[in-house]
Amino acid sequence: MNNAPLLKVENVTKHFEMKSSVIDRYLLKKQNIVQAVTNVSLEIREGETLGLIGESGCGKSTLGRVILRLHEPTHGKVFLGNEEITALRHEDLKKVKRKMQIIFQDPYASLNPRLSVAEIVRLPLKIHEPLSRKEMDDRVADMIERVGLDTQYLQRYPHQFSGGQRQRIGIARALVLRPEFVVCDEPVSALDVSIQAQIIQLMGQLKEEFSLTLLFISHDISVVAYLSDRIAVMYLGELVEIGKVDELLNHPLHPYTKVLLDAVPQVDRIGVHKRIVLTGDIPSPLSPPGGCKFHTRCPDAMAVCRTEAPALEEHAAGHSVSCHLYR
Ligand code: SF4
Repeated sequence: MNNAPLLKVENVTKHFEMKSSVIDRYLLKKQNIVQAVTNVSLEIREGETLGLIGESGCGKSTLGRVILRLHEPTHGKVFLGNEEITALRHEDLKKVKRKMQIIFQDPYASLNPRLSVAEIVRLPLKIHEPLSRKEMDDRVADMIERVGLDTQYLQRYPHQFSGGQRQRIGIARALVLRPEFVVCDEPVSALDVSIQAQIIQLMGQLKEEFSLTLLFISHDISVVAYLSDRIAVMYLGELVEIGKVDELLNHPLHPYTKVLLDAVPQVDRIGVHKRIVLTGDIPSPLSPPGGCKFHTRCPDAMAVCRTEAPALEEHAAGHSVSCHLYR
């Protein structure tokens, strides 16, 4: 793994404005703003896999889409190498976009049902690479074999495949352009557990073969831990902890990370295991709590947590946390 960061995210915020009623807008002067991502900064080194975890709706997929410019950030910058992606337009943006791809969560919804497998995997080449038809067909066939499918299926349509096979097609489509950086957005969460293991193994293999740099998004810490070099934990749009996999799994600092780890089933737990149970509802990103956003559910909350937001600070080498317990 190279030590130079390939991807840099600087203070990225993404807010969505929701439709509000006439009374809200004109009488109460109130806007409905979903604070999906707030002031996130991180780096991913060349060849590294950064796992990004958190509950559904915590903003992790939105962050992945902002990085790829599928959403425009409200504030902040994203760099791929030395290029500021967030400042690029038109042809310049198209050139950079071919180096960055996404594998989607839902292999059922993400493939066009009217296109054959060959057409689906060929499409990115048609858009981004001026190759002859023969060269394109060779690249498609090669990619299909690398993801473990038989080329005799190239003329079949998505509905003729199982969930795991469809995800393999999605992976082939994402990698056919030989990208440098890939966002894997919950790529196995819609699959059966036995198929999940095969797809994760395949992704590990392809990561080595293509020297990929990955942002691997999941709500399941055990899935993320298998592939990642480091893990970042997100809560209500903010990063609350980031560190190397072993360090974070063995010495979690943030109370929220401890809850996520505690929720992982372990076959060697015998007898009654006293789980950490979160109290309170998940706050709405329309009106997140002040101070530490986790204070309404945190078992360790103190008075200061209600009024003062903690900053993400390094606690040990390469291990940062945002929590007043470690000030
Ligand atoms: Fe809990 Fe306070 Fe730490 Fe937030 S800052 S995680 S409320 S102890």
